[in-house]
Amino acid sequence: MEWLYSIFFFLYGITFGSFFNVVGIRVPLKESVVSPPSHCTTCDRNLTPVDLVPVFSYVFLRGKCRGCKEKISALYPTMELITGVLFVCAYLHFGFQWELVVALLFISMLVILTVSDLKYMLIPNKILLPFGIAIFILRFISPLTPWWDSLLGAAVGFGLLLLIAIVSNGGMGGGDIKLFFVIGLVLGTMQTLVTLFLASLIGAIVGLIFLKKTKQGRKTPVPFGPSIAVAALIAYFYGEQLVSWYTGLLN
Ligand SMILES: [Zn+2]
Repeated sequence: MEWLYSIFFFLYGITFGSFFNVVGIRVPLKESVVSPPSHCTTCDRNLTPVDLVPVFSYVFLRGKCRGCKEKISALYPTMELITGVLFVCAYLHFGFQWELVVALLFISMLVILTVSDLKYMLIPNKILLPFGIAIFILRFISPLTPWWDSLLGAAVGFGLLLLIAIVSNGGMGGGDIKLFFVIGLVLGTMQTLVTLFLASLIGAIVGLIFLKKTKQGRKTPVPFGPSIAVAALIAYFYGEQLVSWYTGLLN
């Protein structure tokens, strides 16, 4: 049965991923997520069901609009695929427990924020707030041990990022600080610290690659949100193993 559920979660994931692309792109522009219907941004042609099958349409259309043959951004199928894979990971990791709901919400939020941050360098409150509230409530049903670690993690995450923002004089966006509050709620104190460490590491590597590629010097801003999202998911799924592996090295 597990493989059948895995397929179900994958299809469910790529379908939601398709919607998350729309949310991540439209919410920062204060546009409705339902109207106007999805259309090609170049020729304005409305997309029909044939164009809207997640991942598969992109492959069948070879990444081009059926109307004007303009290239479709690879960001769409990529985020759909990532959402599908992450939903399966969440199911395989937690099974049918309440924590699966937390995991699916957390993944959904991170995918939407990644799209917004890549597109506009922005982490919208309109996304953080509803997901933050839902996760806060779910932490009563599916608590961490001890239960207050969720609140402490949120306080530590928010406080540390705020401190970094003050010290670095604006090197950290307000969205990143608030995002770490929600990450703290989900992960607790220890894994929030792991996330911060991993995000800095990933961010530095991404920054280096970006710097080499463009040669535009250090002023080019690189969104930090995607690095935080990747780090938070690694910490969520493998943080405990990472910590025990690391403490094992020290002994
Ligand atoms: Zn077109």
